[in-house]
Amino acid sequence: MSKAHIHEEGRSGWGAPGPAEARHPSGADVVPGLLSLGQALQAALIVDAYGRVVWMDDALTHATGPQGEPFQGRPVAAVLARLPWLAQAMRPALQGKAGVHEESGLKAFVLPVFDEQGTLLGACARLQLPESSMGQVAEGGLTRHAPESLAHMNSVLRATFDSIAEGVIVVDLNKRVTAFNKRFLDIWGLTEEMMVDRDAERVLVRAAGGVKHPESFTSRIRERFEPSEQVDVETVELLDGRILERKSLPQRMGGAIIGRVWSYREVTAERQAEAERERLLREAQEAIRVRDDFLSIAAHELKTPLTPLKLHLQMLRQRGAEGDGASARHVDKSLMQVSRLTGLVNDLLDTSRIQEGRLTLKHGPVVLQELAHDVVSEMRLSSAHHRVEYEAPESPLVVLGDADRLAQVLVNLMENAFKYSPSGGTVRVRVAREDRHAHVSVQDEGIGIPRDQQAHLFERFFRARNAPISGFGGLGLGLYICGDIVERHGGRLWVESVLGHGSTFRFTVPLAST
Ligand code: ADP
Repeated sequence: MSKAHIHEEGRSGWGAPGPAEARHPSGADVVPGLLSLGQALQAALIVDAYGRVVWMDDALTHATGPQGEPFQGRPVAAVLARLPWLAQAMRPALQGKAGVHEESGLKAFVLPVFDEQGTLLGACARLQLPESSMGQVAEGGLTRHAPESLAHMNSVLRATFDSIAEGVIVVDLNKRVTAFNKRFLDIWGLTEEMMVDRDAERVLVRAAGGVKHPESFTSRIRERFEPSEQVDVETVELLDGRILERKSLPQRMGGAIIGRVWSYREVTAERQAEAERERLLREAQEAIRVRDDFLSIAAHELKTPLTPLKLHLQMLRQRGAEGDGASARHVDKSLMQVSRLTGLVNDLLDTSRIQEGRLTLKHGPVVLQELAHDVVSEMRLSSAHHRVEYEAPESPLVVLGDADRLAQVLVNLMENAFKYSPSGGTVRVRVAREDRHAHVSVQDEGIGIPRDQQAHLFERFFRARNAPISGFGGLGLGLYICGDIVERHGGRLWVESVLGHGSTFRFTVPLAST
C-alpha cells in the first residue's frame, strides 16, 4: 500500500507545489491513503488524481444538491455543479499547486497530495468561513457549512421564531433591539416601522402606554437593562383587560452576558378560568359552611323543646298515677313545646317546598284588618312582658291571596319582634293604605340589626351576628319564607333598623281592584 503525504512548505503545513511532472496513479489502492490524509486535515472534499470525487463531508454534500445521489467516482465539476468556483479551485491542486480561494464568503484551502515517490494521488480542499462571519454562527461545527446551507438554516430559524406563540424581543447591553418576532408586535400593537430605530427605550415607552401599572412595568424592565443572571417570571396586566405572562432571562455568548431575552405569553383565558375556579371553590366552601352551621342549629333547635316536653309529660304521668288529675299548667307547657317543634318542622318543610317550587297559595279575597286583628289578639297572649299596639283604618283593605299564608307572615314578624326584644318594650302593628297597596308594619324596640347584615336577612339560613343561637333560637328560615310568600302576592318585604334601638319590618300587598 502506498503511503500518502503532503509536501510541506514553510510553517503553514498546508499544501505545497509538488513536482510538475507528477504521474497519475491508477486503481483504488490509493483511496484509503487519500482518505486518511484528507480526514486528518479536516478536508471537506477529496478528489483523486483524475479529478473524481473520493469523499465529501455532510455539509458540502448538502450544499451540492439533492441528497442521496452517489458522488464517489464522478467528476468533481459535475458533482459541484452548484459550486463551480470550488471545482475550479481544485484544478491547480491537481496540477500539484496549493492555493487559497475565496468566494461567496467561504474560503477554500486546496492542496495536492503525493505519495512517497512524489506521485500525485489527488487533492483535498478544506473549507472555512472568513473570520468576520465566524461570530454569527453558533458553536458546534457550522464553520464548514456552505453559504446555501447557512441561508437555509437562517430561514428555518426565522420561520420558527415567527411562528411561536410567545412574543419575543432581545435587547443588548446598549439597549438596542437585536431581534423580535411578529407575535411581539401583535401583542403590543406595534409595527415594523416603529422598530426601525431599534431603540429599546422607545419600544418600552410605547408598550407602557397600554399597561395598567406603567411605572412598575418600566422600572422593572429598566432594572434588567443592566446585565443580570436573574430569570424572572412576572404578570403584566393590560388596560384592555388582557393578561400577559412575561419571562425574561439573560442572553449569553460564550460565558458572557450580552443582553436579555423577554418573552410574552397571553394568559388571559387561563387566569380567568383560574379566578372562576377559585370563586366556585369559595362559593362551594361557603355553601358547605352554611349547611354545616344549619345542621348544628337545626339539631339544637329541634332538641331544645324535647327536654321540657319530656319533663312535663313525666310529671303528668306521675300525677296521673298519684290520682292527682292532669295539671293544666303542664299540659299547656307541653302543648307549647309541641307547637314550637311543629313550627320548626313546618319551616323546614316550607323551605324545601319553596326550593322545589311546590309551595302553593290559595287565591281568595282577604280583608287585611280582620286578619291582622285576629293575629294580634292571639299573639298578645303569647308575651306577658311586651305591650302590643295595633292601629288600622276603618275602611276594609281587601287583597287577593292566601289568608293562612298572610297570617303566617304577620305571626312570624310579631314572634321575631318579641324574641328580639328580650327586655320587653312596645310592639306596634300598623295596617294602612298606600295608593293601590295595603301596607303592614311591625315595629319593636329590641336589639336591632347591624347595617351590613340587613340586606341578607331574607336569605335562607341567615341569622344576624348580634343574634347568637345561645340567646335567641331560630333556624334563619322565617324571613326567607315570609319574603317568598309576600313576593308571590305581588308585594315586597323589607326592614328598617338601628342597631340597639329596634327594627321595623314592613310589607305591602296590592289591593284587589273593585
Ligand atoms: P330566626 O328563626 O333565626 O329568627 P328569621 O328568618 O325569622 O330566623 O330571622 C332571620 C334573622 O334576622 C334572625 O336570626 C335575626 O338575626 C334577625 N331578625 C329577625 N327579626 C328581627 C328583629 N325583629 N329584631 C332584630 N333582629 C331580627
